[in-house]
Amino acid sequence: MYQKILLALLLIFLMSSVFVEAASRPASVQNLRYSNTGEKVRIVLDVTKECDYKELYLENPSRLIVDLENAVLSSSVQKEHLVGSPLANRIRIGQFNSTTVRVVVESMAEINIFWLDGGPSGCRMVIDVIEVPSVFQNEKPKPSTPSTPSTPSTQNPSQKDDELKAREERARKAAEERERKEKEEKERKAKEEKERKAKEEKERKAKEERERKAKEERERRAKEERERRQHQQPTTPSGPTSEIDKDLEKLMTLKGKIIAIDPGHGGNDAGAIGPTGVMEKTVTLNVALELEKLLKAEGATVIMTRRTDKTVSPNGAKASAIEELQARCDVANNAKADIFISIHADSFTNPTARGTTGYYYGETEGPMSIRLADCIRKALCEQIKTPSRGTKPCNFYVVRNTDMAATLIELAFISNPEEEKLMSSPEGVLKCAQGIFDGIEDFFG
Ligand SMILES: [Zn+2]
Repeated sequence: MYQKILLALLLIFLMSSVFVEAASRPASVQNLRYSNTGEKVRIVLDVTKECDYKELYLENPSRLIVDLENAVLSSSVQKEHLVGSPLANRIRIGQFNSTTVRVVVESMAEINIFWLDGGPSGCRMVIDVIEVPSVFQNEKPKPSTPSTPSTPSTQNPSQKDDELKAREERARKAAEERERKEKEEKERKAKEEKERKAKEEKERKAKEERERKAKEERERRAKEERERRQHQQPTTPSGPTSEIDKDLEKLMTLKGKIIAIDPGHGGNDAGAIGPTGVMEKTVTLNVALELEKLLKAEGATVIMTRRTDKTVSPNGAKASAIEELQARCDVANNAKADIFISIHADSFTNPTARGTTGYYYGETEGPMSIRLADCIRKALCEQIKTPSRGTKPCNFYVVRNTDMAATLIELAFISNPEEEKLMSSPEGVLKCAQGIFDGIEDFFG
C-alpha cells in the first residue's frame, strides 16, 4: 500500500515536470519559405508550436519586423531571401537574442499575421505582405482616431502619430511605385505592338517579293521559249504566215488547255502525316492552289477535284475508297481534260527515305502518260532540289481510270523531317507548284 502511494506520487511528479518542461521549452523555427503572386508575398515559418510575437515598423529603409518570443532558430534555416518584389524586396531571419527570433521584411506594405496548424513542424506562422489599403493613400488619418487592429494597444498617442505618418509615407511610396510600374507596362505594350506590326509588314513585303520573282521567272521562261521557237522556224515559211502564227501560239502557251488537278486525300482522309504533324492532304491542296494560279495566268482552263479540305465524293466520309477515287476521275473525265495530275506526298517507315517519284499507268494514253510523268518529275526535282526516284509504272486507281494522259506525282517524303519542312513552308509550296508548272509547259512544248 505504502509502495503504491509512493509510486503514484512519483508518477505525478514526473508527469507535472514533463508538462512544465513542455510549456517552457521554446518554439523552434525550422524553416522559412515564401511565395510571391505579385499582389501578395506570403511568408511561412514552420514552427514547432505557437508563440507570442510582436510587430514593429522601422524606417530608413522601410522594414517590417516580427519578433517571435521564446523562440529559437534552427541552424538549417536560410538566413536571407531575395524576393525582389515591390511588396517585399528581401526577407531576413535571425536569432535576435537568446529568446527572440526576428524576421525582417524590407517593405513599405502592410502585414497580416496568423497561425495555422499542420505543416512539416506541426504549426505555421503566416506573414502576408499586402498592398497598403487605398484608404491610407487618400485620407489623412486623424491622430485621435484609433489605429488599425494590427497596432499593438500598448502604444502611447505620440507613437501612434509616428506610426500613422510612417504608414502615410509608405502608402505614398507604394502608390508612386505602382504608377511607375503601370507606366512601364504601358510603354512595354506599345513597344510590343509596334514590333508586331513591323514584323507583319516585313512578312507581307517578303511574300510580295516572292510572288513578284516567281512571276518574273515565269515571264522570262515564256520569253526564252518564244525566242527559242522563233529561232527554230525556217526563215522561209512553207505555208501562210497566219497559219504558222497560229501554230506558234498554240505551242507557246497553255491557252485553251484543260488541266485537271487532283490534290490527294482531303476531308476525313489526312493521307500521310509527317513527324511534326504536317498532313499530306494540306500539302497537296496548298501546292494545287498555287499551281492553279500559275496555270490560269498562262490562259489554261484548270479543273480542280477539290479546292478545300473535303472529300470529292458527294457521299463525304461515308464514301468507299473506290467511290472517292472514282469521283476524282469523273471530274477529269467529264471535263474532257487534256491531262490529269494527282498530287501526293510520299511516306515511309524509315525517316531517311527521300526524293521525288513520277507515276504513270501504262495502258492509259501509254507513252503520253510516261512523258507527262517524266516532264513533271524532272522539273520538280530541279525546282525543289530533291533526288529523283525515277518515273515508274503503277496501278493507282486515279491514273488507271482517267481517260487522258495522267500522272500521280509524289512531291517528296512527308516522313522525312527535311522534306516535310520543305513542303510545309510557303517557299517550298511555291517551288513545288512552279516545278509541276514547268513540267506541264515542257510536256506541251
Ligand atoms: Zn497520298
